Amino acid sequence: MAAENVHVVAVIGAGPAGLFATRALTAQGCRVLLLNRDIKPGGLAEYGIFLNKYKMKGGLRKQFQKILTDSRVTYLGHVTVGAHGAITVPELRGLRLDALVFAHGAQGTKYLGIEGERLPGVYHAKDLVYHYNRLPPFSERDFPIGRRVAIVGVGNVMVDVANYCIHFCDCDEVIAVARRGPFEKAYDDREFEDIEEAFDGDLYRQELERIRPRLEAVGQDPDELLAALAEPESSRAAEKPDEVRTRLRFRFLAVPRRVVTEEGRVVALEIEETRLERKGDRIAAAGTSEISRIPCDTVVFAVGDRVDERIGLPYRDGLYITGSGGDEAGPYQVCDPATGAPLPGVFVVGWARRASEGVVGRARLDAETGARHVLGQLATLPRRSLADADRLIAAVTEALRSRGIAPVAYPQVQRIEAEERARAAVAKAEEFKFPSNRDMLELLRNYPGPGSDEALGSSPGSHAPTSKSSPATTP
Ligand SMILES: Cc1cc2nc3c(=O)[nH]c(=O)nc-3n(C[C@H](O)[C@H](O)[C@H](O)COP(=O)(O)OP(=O)(O)OC[C@H]3O[C@@H](n4cnc5c(N)ncnc54)[C@H](O)[C@@H]3O)c2cc1C
Repeated sequence: MAAENVHVVAVIGAGPAGLFATRALTAQGCRVLLLNRDIKPGGLAEYGIFLNKYKMKGGLRKQFQKILTDSRVTYLGHVTVGAHGAITVPELRGLRLDALVFAHGAQGTKYLGIEGERLPGVYHAKDLVYHYNRLPPFSERDFPIGRRVAIVGVGNVMVDVANYCIHFCDCDEVIAVARRGPFEKAYDDREFEDIEEAFDGDLYRQELERIRPRLEAVGQDPDELLAALAEPESSRAAEKPDEVRTRLRFRFLAVPRRVVTEEGRVVALEIEETRLERKGDRIAAAGTSEISRIPCDTVVFAVGDRVDERIGLPYRDGLYITGSGGDEAGPYQVCDPATGAPLPGVFVVGWARRASEGVVGRARLDAETGARHVLGQLATLPRRSLADADRLIAAVTEALRSRGIAPVAYPQVQRIEAEERARAAVAKAEEFKFPSNRDMLELLRNYPGPGSDEALGSSPGSHAPTSKSSPATTP
C-alpha cells in the first residue's frame, strides 16, 4: 500500500505562502501540519489586503478553505513558533518531522534609526494595517490619526494607508514622502485610482516645478508628467465627491531625519532634501544637507518590513541565511551560519524568504517553487505509514496542550467565520470580524478543540454560539 505511506511536513504560517506550499505538498501525498500564529488563517490576505477588496479576499478565502478542508492537512491556529512562542524552532526540529517549511511572513519592523520613530503618533504601516483589518491584538490598540498625516514611502502600502486616512479618518491632508522623485514611484496606477479623488493636481504641479532642476539633472522630464495631468484641476475638483475633503499631496526628494515633537505631540517630520544620481540603470538619492520640515501630527512609515529575527532561524542583514541560487539546496533551504551547510529539511518561502516582495500571486509562486525543493529532498527519505504520521501530528497537538496551549483547529475557525458572517448579515454589513482573540475563544468555549475526535471530524455550525462581543463591522 505504497500510496498510504507518506512524509510529514510542518508548515509554519498560514498566509498565502504557507497555504499554497501546503497545497503543493499535499498534492504529492504529504501530510501537513500547519501551525499559525493567528487564530484565523490567511495572513495578510485576511489582515492586510485593503478593507473594501471584498471580492479579492472572498476569492482567496475560498481557495484557502479548499486547502484547509483537505483531510491531509491539520491546521493549528493560535500557535506561535519561536523563542517566545508555544514551541521553539529547536523543539520543532527535535520532533523529527520530514521537513519544516517556514512561511511566517515578514513580521519584523524596519526601523530607519531616526529620532522620534517610536513615539506616540508615529506608526509602522504593518501595525496600522493590522489594526484597521482587525487582527488581534492590533485591533484592540488605539491608533489615533491626526489631521495631517505624513506617509513615508510611495509603494502600494502607502496607497492603502492613504486610502484608510482619506476614507476612514478625519484628515485634512495626507502627504506622501519620497526619497527619490516621481519617476521612481513604486505604487501601481490601478491601485492609485482608489485615492485619486483626493489627489491635488495643483500641489503636484507646484511640487514638480520645485524639483524640476533636480529631475532634469538626471535627464528626467517633468513635462511628461505634467502633460499626463490632462484634465484641468477645476474639472477634477468638480468630479470630487463631497465627502472626500482630504487632499493628497506628494513631497519628493526628501529623506526623513527626525520626528519633531512639542510637548510630547508630533508637530513635524524633519527631512533632508536629496538630489538624484544615476548609478547604471538605477536612480539613487543622495542627501544635500539642506534640512526642512513637513508640518504634520501623524507619521506612518510605509517602507516595507523585514523578517522576524527572533523566531530562531539563522539570520543576517534582514534575511534568513539560505543557500545561493547556484547551490543544490537553492535559495529556499536555510543554512548553518557557521559552516554554510544546508540545515536538512529546513526551508523558507514567501515573505519570510524575501520580506515585503510582491503580491499574493508572487507569494504563491515562491511557495510552489519552495515546495518543489522540499519534495526533491523528501524523495530521498523513507516514508512513514499513515498511522505513524497521524500519531506524530497528534503528539505535537498533545505536547502543545500539555503546555497549556489550546490550538484552534480548522473546524473551529469555520465556526468563528460562520458566526462572523451571521453578525455581518444582521448588521447589514459586508463583513464582521471579532475584534479580539478573547471574543473568538469565548465563542469556542463549548466547541471542542483539536485533539478531540469530535472537533477534528465534526462539521462546523452544530454548536450554539456563546459570544456576546460587540460588532466590528465593515460597511
Ligand atoms: C498593506 C498590504 C496590502 C496588500 N494588498 C495586496 C493586494 O491588494 N493584493 C495582493 O495580491 N497582495 C497584497 N499584498 C501582498 C500580500 O499580502 C503578500 O504577498 C502575501 O500575504 C505574503 O504572504 P506570506 O504567506 O508570505 O506572508 P503573510 O501573509 O504575512 O502570512 C504570514 C502568516 O504567518 C503567521 N505567522 C507569523 N509569525 C508566526 C510565528 N512566529 N509562528 C507561527 N505563525 C506565524 C501569521 O499568522 C500569518 O498567517 C498586500 C500586503 C500588504 C502589507
